[in-house]
Formats: sequence, structure tokens, C-alpha cells
Amino acid sequence: MSAQTEAIATKLKKIREAYIKQLPVQLERIRASYSEFVLGEQGNDSLEDLHRRIHTMKGACASFRLGLLSSVALTGEQLAKEAMKSADPPDRFWHQKMQELFARMELEISTVDPMQGMALQFQELATAAEETSEREQKVVYLCEDDSYQRLTLAAQIGCFGFEITSFGELEQLANAVKSAPPDAIVMDIIFPEKPFGGSEIMQAIQSGLENPIPTIFISSNGTLANRLSAVRAGSSAYFVKPLNMTDLCTTLTLLTSSEKPEPYRIMIVDDDPLLSEYHALILQEAGMITLVVNDPLQVMSPLFEFKPDLILMDVYMPGCNGMELAKAIRQIGAYFSIPIVYLSSETDSDKQHLAMQIGGDAFLTKPIEGHRLVSSVAVRAGRMKIIRSQMVRDSMTGLFNHTATKELLDAAVSHAQRKQEEICFAMIDVDKFKAVNDTYGHPVGDRVITALARLIRQRVRKADTVGRFGGEEFAVILPGCSLSEAVVLMNELRESFAAISFQSKDMTFSCTFSCGIAPLSLYGDPTALNAGADEALYAAKHGGRNKVVAAKGMSGAKKS
Ligand code: GH3
Ligand code: MG
Ligand code: MG
Repeated sequence: MSAQTEAIATKLKKIREAYIKQLPVQLERIRASYSEFVLGEQGNDSLEDLHRRIHTMKGACASFRLGLLSSVALTGEQLAKEAMKSADPPDRFWHQKMQELFARMELEISTVDPMQGMALQFQELATAAEETSEREQKVVYLCEDDSYQRLTLAAQIGCFGFEITSFGELEQLANAVKSAPPDAIVMDIIFPEKPFGGSEIMQAIQSGLENPIPTIFISSNGTLANRLSAVRAGSSAYFVKPLNMTDLCTTLTLLTSSEKPEPYRIMIVDDDPLLSEYHALILQEAGMITLVVNDPLQVMSPLFEFKPDLILMDVYMPGCNGMELAKAIRQIGAYFSIPIVYLSSETDSDKQHLAMQIGGDAFLTKPIEGHRLVSSVAVRAGRMKIIRSQMVRDSMTGLFNHTATKELLDAAVSHAQRKQEEICFAMIDVDKFKAVNDTYGHPVGDRVITALARLIRQRVRKADTVGRFGGEEFAVILPGCSLSEAVVLMNELRESFAAISFQSKDMTFSCTFSCGIAPLSLYGDPTALNAGADEALYAAKHGGRNKVVAAKGMSGAKKS
């Protein structure tokens, strides 16, 4: 843990302890609101007060990972809401339920374990901070009325390498944005007396700006009404509490990144060379990369090499028509969902309709105005890019999935062979992982997997590829790395991983992994390389686990 992370972790622990300490007072206030309501002096005001207090407790407890208390509070919140909605005063069952709820809250508060869930939170903060330590600091404003949540959130976002300034009141934030606009804003929605306070003020702020500020809304309420209010206020993302800090900060990183996104890749299939060049030029002007294919029968190899995000297709061509070609392309598994936009002078709407039925996404008529061509293509190519990234990434760890990793291994091997360079392939498998699941439960097992994924990614170089090969199995492609260097790297990783202590309820445990590494120079092709690493991994397991084993080359029987 770096000194900075350690300081923040200590701060976070203090805030949390202070929060837990004052929980009895919060419960007292909740009870006082309830008594006022029962006495009927303040009418519905005290009921609203009761609702708001329970709601705040729910949100804060969730943020502090006090899961049980948070879920008790959620029940209370629903109960209070029920009474607010009803025209009749609540019956005695309602009162009975409320009383039971207070008793449960009291019990939960008296048995709260101040350390529960904290160790993992720290671990996450530590790795996250190291991961982002080299990036330039972006400024983030945070606006949240609840002081405890504000402090924790600020500490956690700070850990991910952002410079954070926090505000408890909407006006303060608005003034700060005016004098010094930040790179991004994290905004709560519900404020005292203002159920849409956060989104309303953001709408006002954004409407006065030339370039809107990327804004993430956070709320304990995920209803459509709240989400819509956020969209209207120009939200970039919406997170429901309890917040997944890794996701939130990944989104913040994306939103504040100055790196330009990869340009769209458009393949134009049209037998008219000039017209296709003209369309290519319009798209290039808009920042896209284009490839023109004038002979429809030659689309196959450009399709695999150029890897388009969209195909712009002429309808009438010699050899085969656009509809037939679209159908043939869609019958290739990898291109089942590629957007195909027809661009033709065909104006007969029946024919257009037919073309759309045979696998087209849109029909544009020539001549087309430049901006219409660009927008029609961009919107569909953009969607495809997102779908494709979801296809190659494993959703739990964000690493490449099995198929993508294998494809990348093929590509890396061809590249290494052209350059006559070494390349190492490492396979990692967590030891006795089944026992982790059996002892601590599947969700804890998942956290071990995510932690290992993050650790590997953080230690390897930019040029290396990390994939999740299966459940608790990972693969690392190390181009330009010798076998001995790879062994050193993997051993360092192995030791770091073994040193992580995981927490589950009141138990602490650690895990190890075994690793097998094979170098291309001893194997010669991706399949053999993969098998070599697998064999070495098997040897590591049989040699007692928690080991890195280097492959010795193909055994005599298998040599070709
Ligand atoms: P060994 O040291 O020989 O590798 O033993 P092991 O128990 O790790 O090996 P085994 O392959 O028998 O068990 C792997 C377990 O991983 C079985 C499966 O239930 C679990 N697993 C697979 N995917 C996931 C996942 O995404 N999350 C969690 N929590 N467990 C998973
Ligand atoms: Mg295993
Ligand atoms: Mg396994």
C-alpha cells in the first residue's frame, strides 16, 4: 500500500468508525420523527421526515458496506412510503411493523462489526491507486448532501487518482463550476426538500455551457423518473447506491480521458470506382477509416483483415447483387450482426423494403448529402463497436475472454514470427479454488478472481495481453519477453498474490496460484505453444502448487 493510499485508508476507517458510533443517535432521531407522527402534531411533515431519515440511513449504510442494516432500513423506507401514499392513516399492523423494525435496527446497530467488509475495500483501494498512480490528475467535483457519504466517496474517488472537491449544497457546486469548471461531476439526485435537486441544478448549469461537463448521477433510487431527470440534465452515466466504486471510477476515467476513441472502420462495396471514392472521402473527412472494394466477389479477405465496423453496400453490382452479398456475409458467424447500410439509387420502396428484409440495417438513396451519410453510418458503427467490445471482454474482470485471447495469441505469434522475436505464453490457475467457494461462498470467490485479474493487469506491460481463459484460469501473452524474464515476472506476481489477505465475515484467508510458461522458440505455433503452457501448468500443480514451471519443449513423441 502506498503512503497516500494508507493515509486515505486510515481516513476512511475513521469516518466509518465515526459513522457507526453515531448510529444510535440516528435511530433516536428516527424514533423521534415516528413519535411526532403518532402524536399527530406535525401532520404529514413528520412522516416525510421519518421517510427521509430512514432513506438516508439506508444509503449511507450501503456505502459503508453495512449490508444488513441497510436492508433493514430499506424495509423501513418502503413502509414509510406506503403510509405516505395512502390517504388513510396507517392501521395498527403498520405501527406494529414499524416498531418491530426499530427493534431490528437497534439489534443490528448493537452488533455491527466495525471491520466487516473493510479489508477488501482497502485492498481494492490499494490496487486501484497503484494502477492509476501515473496518470495526470483530473479534477472531479462531488455534490452529495449526506456528509458521511460525501466524505467516504471523496476518499474513494481520490484513491483512483482524481483530484476531488466536494460540496454539500447545490448552490456551492453551481458557483464553483462557474468560477472553475471541473473535468467531471459526480452528482447526487435527492436533496433535502428537493427530490430532483441534483438533476435540476445540473440542467441549469449545462444549459449555460458551450461544452457540457461529463456528469455521473448517483442515487439510492433507480426509478425511471429519476433516470429520466438525469438524462434530461445531460447525464453521461447513472449509478444506483451502493456504488460499485471500480465501475464508477472506470467510467470517470473514460469520461475524462483525453485519448481519442478509435475511428470507425467502414468498408465500401460499390462497383463504381469514382462514386465509392467520393463516399470514402466524405467519411474520411468525418474521421473514419475506409476501405473500398469495387469487385463484390473480392470482399472476403478484406472483411477479415480490415475488420470493418460497418459495410456500406451498393445494391446493383455485376457478379452478385448487394442483397445476396449481405446474406452471404451474415452467414459467417463473426459477421452475423455487422451493420450493413445499402446505398443505392433504387427509389422503389418495395425493392428497398425487400433489401432491408434480407439483412440490411438502413437504406440510403443516392445522391446523398454528406452529413446524412456520415450520421447514418456513425450511429450504426458506434453501436457495433460497443457490441464488439462486449463480445471480446469478460464482463466480470474486463479481461479478454477465451476466444478473443486465442485470436490475439494467433496474431501475436504471426507478428513475432515476422519480426523473428521471442514470445512467451503463460497460463495461471488458482490453487484449490473450489475450496474457496465451498468455504466462503461464490461471491467471495468472485472477489478473489477480480483481485487477481487486477493484479496481473497492473503488473504486465502495455504490450502484453491478459485474458480470462476460464473460471479461475488466466492467460498472459508476453511479446518480446524471454523465458527467463517471464519466469521472474510470474514469480513476482505469484508472491504478490499469495500476500493478499482476503476477508470474509470474520475470517481471513489467502490464495496461491500455479503457472506454466512456454516460449514460442521451443514450440513454433500457437496450438503447440498453448499445449506447452498447459503441460507446464499441470507439472506445477503436480509439483505441489504455488509454483511457476517453465516448459521444456515438445516431448519426442509430439515433435513434428
Ligand atoms: P486446482 O488447484 O487443482 O486447480 O484445484 P481447483 O479447486 O482450483 O480446481 P477445479 O478446476 O476443480 O475448480 C475450479 C472451481 O472454480 C470450480 C468452479 O466452481 C469454480 N469457478 C469457476 N468459475 C467461477 C467464477 O466465475 N466464480 C467463482 N466464484 N467460482 C468459479
Ligand atoms: Mg484451480
Ligand atoms: Mg481450474
